[in-house]
Amino acid sequence: MEFASLAVLSGLPENDPHRAVGLPIYATAAYSFEDLEDGAQKFATSQGYTYARLQNPTTAALEARLTALEGALGAVAVASGQAASFAALLALVRAGDEVVASPGLFGGTVGLLNQVFGLMGVRVHFVAPEVEAVQGVLSEKTRAVFVEVLGNPSLELPDLEGLAQLCEARRVALVVDNTFGAAGALTRPLSHGAHVVTHSLTKWASGHGSILGGAVLARETSLWEHYPQFTTPDAQGRIPVEQFGPRCFLERVRQLGLSLGGMVLSPFNAYLLFQGLETVELRVQRASQSALEVARWLREQPQVAWVRYPGLPEDPAYPRACRYLQGGFGSILTFGLRGGIEAVSRFMAHLKLIQAPNVGDARTLAVHPWTTTHSRISEEARRAAGVGPEMVRLSVGLESPRDIQAFLAEALASVKPVVHED
Ligand SMILES: *Cc1c(COP(=O)(O)O)cnc(C)c1O
Repeated sequence: MEFASLAVLSGLPENDPHRAVGLPIYATAAYSFEDLEDGAQKFATSQGYTYARLQNPTTAALEARLTALEGALGAVAVASGQAASFAALLALVRAGDEVVASPGLFGGTVGLLNQVFGLMGVRVHFVAPEVEAVQGVLSEKTRAVFVEVLGNPSLELPDLEGLAQLCEARRVALVVDNTFGAAGALTRPLSHGAHVVTHSLTKWASGHGSILGGAVLARETSLWEHYPQFTTPDAQGRIPVEQFGPRCFLERVRQLGLSLGGMVLSPFNAYLLFQGLETVELRVQRASQSALEVARWLREQPQVAWVRYPGLPEDPAYPRACRYLQGGFGSILTFGLRGGIEAVSRFMAHLKLIQAPNVGDARTLAVHPWTTTHSRISEEARRAAGVGPEMVRLSVGLESPRDIQAFLAEALASVKPVVHED
């Protein structure tokens, strides 16, 4: 089946006693056992429902739908995108290991690598997500190369297939944060060779800016046979690759992230995300069309110094966007105002679009990354992440593109065009 069909048909209940068409919400903390043997069996094999920190049928339906949409082996849903990055990395690295990451990653991911994994004895190399740069820092100890499908807000697009080939040859997991890939509606990195995909479902999957959620997905691979945590006995004396085969990575994510880490997603949120996925492709296509129109229009405005949008042919990300993105170029664009931060301050004061630090909402959201989302990192790190003081980020929503343009025009009118002396 194709994406549009999977989005509405996958994960639906099959054995509901009332033949419910929609997904029931299982509001329960625990599940009962038939007898002593039943309980013992479920605890011994980790199969079946025992306690909702580990599994819930509503969340399992969401996991099945995400698995279908990303073409994955399986998925583990967690409480947020931050939890997804955390759980994926916890399953991959141990003290003494190394991670290669892009400096343009989401701020929370950079913080997680530096302030959590760094302190736990994991060395992190920040280099551009390009084959040559990554190759230069790979070592025997590297366990993960972490990139984003579209840098936020740098909008850089890594060479996914080149990195996947390199990682495969060096037996290192390529982890792609596919939040901006909109649950597979824009791109499916596993089909380009990534081993693991993470998501903030808070963004396009939810689609309404109403709740938080995240997920870790993986494809079938023999990579885990080269990781000591999967080839040596676990706490129960089992060898994970023998017990679970290629699912051992996802089992470890569930064990460390959910069972021990408690990063569990509420079944109410799982229900909303399950429903959000039914329209994600439609929403992303619509918002992509609007974003392209707005980007083209912004490019012509005298107050605007530059525009970055992967769908503009002159954009550095355009060739890779044509190769890796389908069904649109996404709903995020950034632009720089002439006159720097003073111009941005006037612009934002007159902007009637909502100003909020989120993306993938039904509404268009504007934000000034320099003073908000990226304000807690050094100026140097901000610039390395592609953020300058003159930059505004727009997450284009579902309004009419003409109305979005009218709001932007009104705010731009408050900014004096700078006259060039050339
Ligand atoms: C928002 C975001 C996250 C974090 O997700 P939360 O759901 O807010 O925890 C991670 N990666 C990217 C690319 C994001 O945009």
